Amino acid sequence: MPLANGRPYLAIPGPSVMPDRVLQAMHRPAPNIYTGELVDMTETLWPDLRALAGTRGHVALYIANGHGAWEAANTNVFSRGDTALVLSTGRFGIGWAESVAALGVRAEIVDFGTQAMDMTRAAQALRDHRDAKAVLVTQVDTSSSARTDIAALRAAMDAAGHKGLLMVDCIASLGCDEFRMDDWGVDVMVSASQKGLMVPPGLAFVWASDKARAVGQGAGLRTPYWDWTARFDARFFYQYFGGTAPTHHLYGLRAALDMIAEEGLPQIWDRHRRLARGLWAAVDHWGQNGDLRLNIADPDARGHAVTTIRTTGGDGTRLRRWCEQEGGVTLGIGLGMNTPEDPASDNAFRVGHMGHVNAHMVLGVLGVIEAGLGALGIAHRPGGVTAAVQAMGA
Ligand SMILES: *Cc1c(COP(=O)(O)O)cnc(C)c1O
Repeated sequence: MPLANGRPYLAIPGPSVMPDRVLQAMHRPAPNIYTGELVDMTETLWPDLRALAGTRGHVALYIANGHGAWEAANTNVFSRGDTALVLSTGRFGIGWAESVAALGVRAEIVDFGTQAMDMTRAAQALRDHRDAKAVLVTQVDTSSSARTDIAALRAAMDAAGHKGLLMVDCIASLGCDEFRMDDWGVDVMVSASQKGLMVPPGLAFVWASDKARAVGQGAGLRTPYWDWTARFDARFFYQYFGGTAPTHHLYGLRAALDMIAEEGLPQIWDRHRRLARGLWAAVDHWGQNGDLRLNIADPDARGHAVTTIRTTGGDGTRLRRWCEQEGGVTLGIGLGMNTPEDPASDNAFRVGHMGHVNAHMVLGVLGVIEAGLGALGIAHRPGGVTAAVQAMGA
């Protein structure tokens, strides 16, 4: 007998759970886009967006998803024939490389597959490609859940004498994992609204340092819509958006930034760390009998907002189906985790635990997964939820 009726829970790594406060802020008649409350409110967003990234630099907003954020960053920095060094730790690193290559930029890809970055290999690549105009990296790759130590990568660039820009994709990690743009020497950072920022898909953000602005000046790939100059320096309201403002998303974003400010970024990072530790403890516990295991073995190299779990025998897909149909929880598909033996990535699944999530939500997901493991006869050591409770409190 299915137990799925009730409030559904989309526990995939984006779009994430939207707080009622965000949804309620969006539930309003169309505002005037020429003067008045929306125009005034929008001015309050920029300082908060800078604080969120940990930068005193520039921020531009686009009506776009994460792919749009990639293209915005790419077109403002590169000219055709430039080189980008892409250090990829999963499907999204490769995606950014494909995005920049399609524009006519030479993408030198160092592919770490579905595993965390090997800093020795990264350092060698930095020495081999000193001519690259920029180094592109994903802080947390949402497919593998590998997290890259951005400060360490900056140090490796400096040690290699690499003068290129450091460009970081924080789409899966901003507002979840610690990130300090200026302290860590990041030149360009991209994110989007639908993950840690708890707003529906539709807003893309690009932050840039003064150096990135200067290096990008005259970039040959700039087009009027993506050009960040007018968005950074807008004199008229429409220039922030290259046209009509994303009116309701802006109200949602205002509410989300208020919630982030009220909780505090360090507290938010800590909440994500503790919830992740609980989730990881459950998987480790289940895996003591059977084939379930975390894709990233080293806890220090895992993102705290998404976790990729490996199974065997197609159990990942079976488990996802069971959890949705019987438990009302939708888990994330295995993305970019395919192998010749498992072309559809049926052995991998992901749990999103980003943004508006708390203990009862993560423990609820784990409880349903454990029920599914039992119902489907997938080998595991029972008691993972108890292990999670202990690890969260620790
Ligand atoms: C979600 C995500 C993207 C892509 O975002 P879309 O909104 O789907 O275009 C890119 N990079 C990372 C790290 C992501 O998590």
